[in-house]
Amino acid sequence: MNSKGRFKYPGWLRAVVVQFDRDFHYAIILSYGLLAAVTISGFAVYRALTGFWIGATVNALIVVAVSSIVAYTITSGDTRRSGFMFAVFNVSAVVASSLVFDRTGILWGFLGLWINFILTHRHNAVVLNLVMVPLLVLTTGLLETTVEILTYIITSLLITTFGFIFSQRLDTQQRLLEQMASRDPLTGAGNRRAMKEDLVQATTLMAEQGQSATLILIDLDDFKQVNDRHGHDSGDQTLITFANAMRGNIRNEDGFYRFGGEEFVILLPDVSVETGRDIAEKLHESISGNLHGPTGPIRYSAGVAGLRPGENWEQWLGRADKAMYEAKQAGRDQVRYGD
Ligand code: GH3
Ligand code: MG
Ligand code: MG
Repeated sequence: MNSKGRFKYPGWLRAVVVQFDRDFHYAIILSYGLLAAVTISGFAVYRALTGFWIGATVNALIVVAVSSIVAYTITSGDTRRSGFMFAVFNVSAVVASSLVFDRTGILWGFLGLWINFILTHRHNAVVLNLVMVPLLVLTTGLLETTVEILTYIITSLLITTFGFIFSQRLDTQQRLLEQMASRDPLTGAGNRRAMKEDLVQATTLMAEQGQSATLILIDLDDFKQVNDRHGHDSGDQTLITFANAMRGNIRNEDGFYRFGGEEFVILLPDVSVETGRDIAEKLHESISGNLHGPTGPIRYSAGVAGLRPGENWEQWLGRADKAMYEAKQAGRDQVRYGD
């Protein structure tokens, strides 16, 4: 209990709840594991009460295996490996159940075929499903007539095919959503949200490891004139041309974001302010005035600020912004440094 009388969760449990909320795969794996453990415990108790000791032991072993994978997921946070372990477990448990409990394993098998696609990568799921179906048909001898066997094989293949298509579509949509949530659609640069996340991460790295980072804030000069004289579409084209040129001149690990209309931010991780200034000057020299949009040369003013220990991302960006404003005041088309 804390001072307000509310129950206080231990730290590890809070971390689990946060990740459960944020990470779909983690949530699926924990839910699957906990539900399986609870349900199968029920079967174990029932079988023990009715004196079916082999069955109760098989069920109890399954509960121990499931609980171990859940514990591994919580302690390591590695959902890729535990998802695969659960899928392998699924197949083994279904085949084992069919051997011990007769036809009921086949019923669980349908659930297993589908859930493998949610637990592990679809390529693993297809291989595991293609192992499970013939194993059930051949080793357990549960399906007696040719029609039963054929029906089982065909329905299983259909589930596997739909699972594959479903998982592929889900991945594509997930990628698209992530891109939409973090990119500016016009220039393809990171958006403000992505920028904030990366700047916060840079301040964390500074606090934890003393790792430096430098920001360059860029504002295109007299951009309003481009729009006024040549139209908004030409303005858009100019922004695209500028963003492409900038991306071609920075490293892969550098962040590039559209901060506002014609303002951009470059984040140089693990770069000291001295090196950052050199980089900003070189970029300015090679791009400003040398790049031609549909309406003539594109020029810009820039402000540079190195991250200071203890400051937050807004203060850091504020210093770069102030330096950029000084560059404008000093006549534009130049680079200034934050104090
Ligand atoms: P300065 O040198 O002082 O920066 O002058 P400026 O004209 O660039 O500055 P100002 O901030 O007054 O104008 C920015 C203009 O950018 C205003 C707006 O019309 C234009 N703008 C903002 N976003 C977009 C956009 O997405 N597309 C286009 N075409 N224009 C935009
Ligand atoms: Mg501006
Ligand atoms: Mg401007």
